[in-house]
Amino acid sequence: MSYVGPDFEPPQPPRPRRGPLTVALAALVPGALLGWLVYETVGGSGGSHGSDTAGARTSAASPSTAEPWSAPATDDGKKPGATPTGSAPARSGPLKGKVVVIDPGHNPGNFRHTAEINRPVDIGTNNKECDTTGTSTNAGYTEARFTMDVAHRLRAILEQQGATVKLTRDGDSPPWGPCVDERARIGNTAHADAAISIHADGSAEGNRGFHVILPASVHAGAADTRPIVGPSRDLGERIAGRFLSVTGEPPSNYIGDGTGLVTRQDLGGLNLSTVPKVFIECGNMRDSKDAALLTSGAWRQKAAQGISEGIVSFLRES
Ligand code: ZN
Repeated sequence: MSYVGPDFEPPQPPRPRRGPLTVALAALVPGALLGWLVYETVGGSGGSHGSDTAGARTSAASPSTAEPWSAPATDDGKKPGATPTGSAPARSGPLKGKVVVIDPGHNPGNFRHTAEINRPVDIGTNNKECDTTGTSTNAGYTEARFTMDVAHRLRAILEQQGATVKLTRDGDSPPWGPCVDERARIGNTAHADAAISIHADGSAEGNRGFHVILPASVHAGAADTRPIVGPSRDLGERIAGRFLSVTGEPPSNYIGDGTGLVTRQDLGGLNLSTVPKVFIECGNMRDSKDAALLTSGAWRQKAAQGISEGIVSFLRES
């Protein structure tokens, strides 16, 4: 973990207080927990997942906005029939006119560009590294590959529903970065209706589960998250609820007091955002149970589906 940047160390953020957030979560959790219990009952305890069983469970657990999924994306490669980076062609669907920016965390080339990614950038509250390498599973499957694969799957789902989707990096991007300030700027410039930064954590074995990171209220330097704190929380709660239901992945057992939600003020990608934005840490790459999920294409499809349903829910009611 020594190479994991401060952004994604098992963080030491302020523990969420028992307060409005917890109360809000209480409303959300029963449905989500139901999904988890169904998962425990039907799917077993989460080692390796037979995709057949899991698929059946998923379709039972995720009725609403799920579009029939065709053409699964390739493992971490280009999406079949992928459009290039950037805005998608015009299309119809319930999300027509909505813009979503997907930020796949890190970059596979960051390991070879340490000077570039260590350059400090201004995140409002302070200076911080341009970007970090991210983590990997013990077998070497990198977080940067994971995030890009989920991003491609998520883009496909959202585009099917008519959204215009932009990625902060893609196969044709430079071999490092972009810096966290640029990642935020891309969402701002696109006037995104929602932005999501995709990650997986690098914590200790036994620490598992997902969490969604919400922007704290920050007003310092170039950072002013005050207008986006409320909508970002709404977005994050919806994503957490749907992610839990669709994937069966439990909320983190090591951060967030079991809510699956954490608020942070030290992430440039959130501090500098002027559009509703959250991060999701989909699981812990250093935990063997989570790693078995994160390295499964079928599971990543469910992860993308869960995230998409949260975004769709947010966009259709905002
Ligand atoms: Zn990360």
